[in-house]
Amino acid sequence: MPKVLREKFGGEIPSEIDDLIQLPGVGRKTANLVRAVAFSLPAICVDVHVHRICNRWGYIKTKNPLETEMALRKKLPAKHWLDINSYVVAFGQSLCKPRKPDCDICPIFQYCKRIGVS
Ligand code: SF4
Repeated sequence: MPKVLREKFGGEIPSEIDDLIQLPGVGRKTANLVRAVAFSLPAICVDVHVHRICNRWGYIKTKNPLETEMALRKKLPAKHWLDINSYVVAFGQSLCKPRKPDCDICPIFQYCKRIGVS
């Protein structure tokens, strides 16, 4: 990574997603996280939790994290972009888990369409 940073970006960490994903080992999730946390620029960090849960809610209907990121960019108010990852990841690890979500004790049960949850 230092070699690519030096050769392509003059030794500076870039802030644009398209530049960040050129760095070895950096995908869109990390690129968005760096853009949001290091630069305080608008970005939505989508991981498996954000993708799964936003689709379960019925808030979006997407097939993969990239589609989820693009759908959220259109629909989610920008003031929530930086925070959604930390909120939803914690929620996905503790309550709305991948295999057995705890819908019976979920505080947002009434607002959730539970798409794909049996
Ligand atoms: S009701 Fe169930 S599927 Fe919906 S957010 Fe809560 S835990 Fe997840």
